[in-house]
Amino acid sequence: MKYISTRQQQATNIKTAILKGLADDGGLFMPEYIPQLDSQFFETLPNLTLQEIGFRVAKEFLGESISDDNLKEIIDEVLNFEIPAVKISENIYSLELFHGPTMAFKDVGARFMARMMSYFSEGKPMKVIAATSGDTGSAVASGFFGVPGIEVYILYPKGKVSPLQEKQLTTWGGNIKALEIDGTFDDCQALAKQILSDEELNQKFTLTSANSINIARLIPQSFYYFWAFAQLQKLGKPIVFSVPSGNFGNLTAGLFAKKMGLPIHQFVASTNENDVVPKFLETGNYESKPSKQTISNAMDVGNPSNFERMKSLFNNDVSEFKKEIKSYSFSDEATKKAMQEVKKDFNYTLDPHGAVAYLGLQALRQAQSDKINEDFVGVLFETAHPAKFVEVVEDVLKEQIEIPEKLEAFNKREKKSVEFPVDFEAVKNYLIQEK
Ligand SMILES: *Cc1c(COP(=O)(O)O)cnc(C)c1O
Repeated sequence: MKYISTRQQQATNIKTAILKGLADDGGLFMPEYIPQLDSQFFETLPNLTLQEIGFRVAKEFLGESISDDNLKEIIDEVLNFEIPAVKISENIYSLELFHGPTMAFKDVGARFMARMMSYFSEGKPMKVIAATSGDTGSAVASGFFGVPGIEVYILYPKGKVSPLQEKQLTTWGGNIKALEIDGTFDDCQALAKQILSDEELNQKFTLTSANSINIARLIPQSFYYFWAFAQLQKLGKPIVFSVPSGNFGNLTAGLFAKKMGLPIHQFVASTNENDVVPKFLETGNYESKPSKQTISNAMDVGNPSNFERMKSLFNNDVSEFKKEIKSYSFSDEATKKAMQEVKKDFNYTLDPHGAVAYLGLQALRQAQSDKINEDFVGVLFETAHPAKFVEVVEDVLKEQIEIPEKLEAFNKREKKSVEFPVDFEAVKNYLIQEK
């Protein structure tokens, strides 16, 4: 399997695609075609374990670049926690993706990427650059913490992540450095891109990215969809996924799963007021905007990086895009109301991101209310544990929620970060000094 950049038909192998992160032309790597899983796989799917699914799916993308034994070992390490589809109501399930070490779905992608990079780097020293609006950084930090030969630099927007998220970014020490940028997430993302494409820095170091732009982050995110099917296929209804979206990595991975043969009925791309993609599907015009701050801040993205990948999957055909993906945007007010409603009606606590996904399912049902035979099972991705957004959740629900021990441990540790203005040269000098 070759990997090609979204901007040029330049081909490379998976090892280079993973180690580089971003292609030389600024594009994102994509597999040259989406592999197909055979009918036998789908017949046995309900009986497979999460780890078996992960291995089979990953193998399709990695081919002979890694031995079965090595890949199995990595998959077993990455997927060593539960991802249950929890019933909220008759036709709504919450796929709880937050049972990993930092309690957000990004744990899966970050852990897989860290291990694949370490495997492919063959012990050569490397600097990993990650911009985060919240949860990416902590999952990346956790995934790479203590991996020998790899230094990780996390750029996050000062004052725009929750206190607990900040603790999860800044308290690791060791090979994990937190850079606190006096700007927005988009500034952080732009700085990271600049670092990664800087000639001088690339001469001095082996640099790579760890955002959802890395193909190694994307591949394992497709496992969730297969795993949800394995759990819910027995209900015998079409399955719709509502994905709370920021950079659209999760959603793009879902498109992979569908192209591999998984009979996903419909995708709902649910966003907060950062509505570039819903607007695009409405008007056919893609217009990036500065990001707006919301209570679902891991989705405060004004120029979603995976849009380029989605476009290439749909061959730039807007009508294809529209057929596959319905997209809705929701205000903070609506999100808060949904959290209260779900708590009151079903006694289930959603975090703000999961609540946006819940609203997406509601919106789809409403849009289809005139069509009979459109009964479906809605699966919302619960991308973070509510305790990760404790201030918002407690304020909205007017009650205290329990903080899991795993998270409490971060609160007790001491913050260490280096502050920067939005100034590439300053960040660059720091990296050079760091050697
Ligand atoms: C990153 C994140 C998202 C958005 O995921 P994308 O793949 O960037 O669209 C949603 N919810 C939470 C909690 C996140 O951390």
